[in-house]
Amino acid sequence: MNEQTTRAVSDLGLDDMVLPFVVEPLESRGRVVRLGPSVDRILSRHAYPAPVARLVGEATALTVLLGSALKFQGRFQVQTRTNGVVDMIVVDFDAPDRVRAFARFDADNLARAIESGEASPAQLLGSGHLALTIEQGQENSRYQGVVPLEGQGLEEAAHQYFRQSEQIPTLVRLAVAENLTGEGSQWRAGGLMVQFLPQSADRMRQADLHPGDAPEGAEVHELAGDDAWTEAKSLAATVEDHELVDPTLSSERLLYRLFHERGVKVFEGQSVIEACRCSSARIEDMLRRFTPEERRDMVGDNGRIGITCEFCSTHREYDPADFDPV
Ligand SMILES: [Zn+2]
Repeated sequence: MNEQTTRAVSDLGLDDMVLPFVVEPLESRGRVVRLGPSVDRILSRHAYPAPVARLVGEATALTVLLGSALKFQGRFQVQTRTNGVVDMIVVDFDAPDRVRAFARFDADNLARAIESGEASPAQLLGSGHLALTIEQGQENSRYQGVVPLEGQGLEEAAHQYFRQSEQIPTLVRLAVAENLTGEGSQWRAGGLMVQFLPQSADRMRQADLHPGDAPEGAEVHELAGDDAWTEAKSLAATVEDHELVDPTLSSERLLYRLFHERGVKVFEGQSVIEACRCSSARIEDMLRRFTPEERRDMVGDNGRIGITCEFCSTHREYDPADFDPV
């Protein structure tokens, strides 16, 4: 056991943490995310039925895995728009540590899907697309990558995204569980991402190619995948769902289980909190941009404009007269 693995076995793991790591001999690095109270608050707040909660939990773990790589003050958003029972999911990660999420679904169609045994996360999504958006606050720059969803689920869609948009060989694993506790149940979510990032860009490009992809005349052995990435990917792929959501298994110990033969080095963990960024000031700004007539049209039976945040369900009420020009 070398020094790196010694450090990795220390039990520093806590819930709602992202732990970056590197497996130097395999030129691979990644992150593990373990979500406890944060994802439980998101899913319980909306009281999603269990199959919907599982899917939103997966989307939340994926968003935190990818968004926690942001090195600047910005926002990372994962959004699905599909024809399935859950036709929209939005998860926002505001760097460095805030996550929020909501989903839209049809309750009747969900009941039918459960009855016919077709309520897995991928089945609830159906077909459409997954959009990954990075917004960099101050410079106002925006980048969006889109991958089709065709029943393959979020893990595989994430692989496609990295293959097509970033050209980084990537493995993503996601898991969600509802643990029964004394007082009821608690949701947990976990995720693991491993990427092949060698010094040589050529090796990275070739790692995910198969012999069949070799251009005509090329020597196949040069393109037949990279041994380091093949090993990193197969070690990471042995992770079990229950390990990703086990509250008694620290992220360090989990990484040690997966990569101890090669030595894994962990970096400082980053915490994650469930937090919405809605505010009364923001809503008032928005209401001011409408005309007085438009604001009158928004008034409910009680004579006030009621606005409920889709993410955190906070309900706020406003008197339309307060926004009229004096
Ligand atoms: Zn809110």
